[in-house]
This record gives sequence, C-alpha cells and structure tokens, in this order.
Amino acid sequence: MSSDLSQTKPVDASASAEVSSWQQEMKRAIRSSRELCEFLSIPVDAIHTEENDFPVFVPRSFATRMKSGDAQDPLFLQVVSQAAESITTEGYGIDPNHESEAVLAAGVLQKYSSRALLISTGGCAVHCRYCFRRHFPYSESPAGLEQWRPSLEVIAKDSNIEEVILSGGDPLILPDHVIGQLLNALADIPHVKHVRFHTRTPVVLASRITAGLIRQLKSTRLKTWFVIHSNHANELDGEVLTGLSKLQQIGIPVLNQAVLLSGVNDDEKALYDLCKRLIDAQITPYYLHQLDEVAGAAHFHVSKSRGIELISALRKRLPGYAVPRYVEEIAGERSKTVIA
Ligand code: SF4
Repeated sequence: MSSDLSQTKPVDASASAEVSSWQQEMKRAIRSSRELCEFLSIPVDAIHTEENDFPVFVPRSFATRMKSGDAQDPLFLQVVSQAAESITTEGYGIDPNHESEAVLAAGVLQKYSSRALLISTGGCAVHCRYCFRRHFPYSESPAGLEQWRPSLEVIAKDSNIEEVILSGGDPLILPDHVIGQLLNALADIPHVKHVRFHTRTPVVLASRITAGLIRQLKSTRLKTWFVIHSNHANELDGEVLTGLSKLQQIGIPVLNQAVLLSGVNDDEKALYDLCKRLIDAQITPYYLHQLDEVAGAAHFHVSKSRGIELISALRKRLPGYAVPRYVEEIAGERSKTVIA
C-alpha cells in the first residue's frame, strides 16, 4: 500500500488551490510511530512501537483529534504500529477473506452477483493497522484510466453488474479529474446504474471534499452512494461533518461502516456515541464488522459474544435505524454473515 502522490497532477485552475490543500496535507503526513508520539507528547516507551513493512501514515489534521499525552487514545491506537503486529497468531493470514479467489481481472473483484469491486488505487489517506487489505498485492492493480480499461471491459461484458464499488486503497486519493474520468467511463456502460465509494478519506482528511469533487459527483448520471469508515465519535469533528454535508446536499446518501476493535470502540459508550454522532448528522450506521483475521491485527480482536452483548445494549438505547448490523466476512460465502 502506498500513499505516494508524486503521480498526481493538479486539476483545473479554479480548483487547484483547494486540491493543493489536501495534497499538501498528504505530503506533510506523519510517517513513523516515533514522529506520531512526538507530535502527541507521548513518551515512546509508553507503548511498544515497532515499524514494519506496512508504514505508518497519518495526516496531521487527524492526529490533532487525538488526546495529547494519552497512549490509549482510541484514534492513536488505530494508527500506531506496535510490536504486537509481528506476533504470529494461528488463523490470521495475509488474505483473510480469500479475495484472490474473487479476482475477475487485475483490479476487479466480484464476490456478489450484481456488484463488482474496482480496486481504483492502492493508496490511502491513512494506514489503519487492522486493515484487512494490508497485505493486498496493490502493485498488480491498475491506477489510472488506461490501466483500468481491461477492468472496465470485464464490467461492460457482464450485464448483471449494476453497481460498481470503488474501493482500494481509497478512491478519494485520486485527483478530481481522474475520478471524473472514471465516473464517465462507468457511465458509458449502460447496465451500470450505481456507483458506491468506499472511503475513509473524508473522515481523516476533511479538506478532501473539494468543490471540484462535488462538481464531478454532480455531473454523473450514476446514482451515487458514499460508505465512509469511522470507528469512534472523536473522529467526527465539525469539519468532517461539514465536508460530508456537502455530499448530502447534492443528494448523496452517506452510510458508515465501523470495525469492532479492542481498546478503540469495544465498550457501550464508545459505540453509542459513534452511532449518535452519525445519526445526528443523518449518516446511517450501516455495518459494524467483526475484525477480519489479517496477520498483524490479532491484538484488535474482540470476541463475538462481546460484540453481541454490545449490539443488544445499543438496541435498548437507540432507534432501530441507528443500530448497525453486526456482520462478519466468511471466506467463500456469497454475502456477509449477520451476527446480530
Ligand atoms: S482500512 Fe481503509 S483507509 Fe484504512 S488502510 Fe485499509 S483500505 Fe486504507
């Protein structure tokens, strides 16, 4: 996974100032656990950090939402690399969901019949230590219009595919004009009706919701959905919610998926506050995922019985639409499995 933006180009002149703002933020991101600890005045020996081949990458605007001096801060724990990542744990592998078996062509996965998932880029605006694609072979995936052609042809040939999910990595680290090109290419395929962005970028880098991006999203015929990824209410400050409201103002539904993570959100208050913050902003709490058993992430595991307990507690306090479906991916299954 790479966050090198050296390939990106500025878009039109009117949007270049705001584009350079988020791209500059990416360039200035924190790139080691030591740097992150220094930024937050956390003594490096307060947590056993260790760098590995999945590098630390944290935008400073996201780091400012962490509590200074607190080595147990729930946002900090999601992004700091720890020695625990190098412990081998039985059952944890490099491709926990067996995605390699769902590859239709380089960069296109199809797990479900009417949908295809396009790995639009390998880069992300943050590196989450529990990411189930942290070992994904992104170098084999396309990252630009010409390289996407074979994937687009595969989608064009299968008239059952009505929805394309843009994932990664994170599609929003592509420049606006590239997103526009991709949307145009998908809109040229008559049977594709919906496009869904799976993205964490608006949560960690609020400045990414630019006027240029909104213009691209407004101009497509495709029904567009955003599924963001936030695990804790502290991630959703006013700036983030303002950015997301720009999507809602042009009629794009915004949903959230979270991952149940030990030390981050495995208590009732944390999950309640997250769901409440989301619905107050008219964002649907869509899924709570059981952790995928990816090598290096076992220290985030929460038992399913604890997860079920937490969901029951939420049901007693929140309206039905505010309680996410608690799900897990079982390799080989044709859909997510609902736990509670
Ligand atoms: S969880 Fe999402 S944003 Fe985080 S590293 Fe993985 S793909 Fe990137």
